[in-house]
Amino acid sequence: MKIREPVGPCIDCGKMVYCVSGFLNGIVLDNHNIRCYDCHEEMEGLEKEEGE
Ligand SMILES: [Zn+2]
Repeated sequence: MKIREPVGPCIDCGKMVYCVSGFLNGIVLDNHNIRCYDCHEEMEGLEKEEGE
C-alpha cells in the first residue's frame, strides 16, 4: 500500500510534489520551497552545460 501525500507545489512549474511512501518526489530547497525532480534535473542539466 502506497501512501501519497501532497507536500506542496513546485516553485518552478507549480505542479504538486508528493511524498510517496516516505519518499519525496522532489527536493526541498534551503528556503523551504519545493522543486519537483523534473525541474531539478532540468536545472542540473543547464548548470552542467554538457551539450551533445
Ligand atoms: Zn517543477
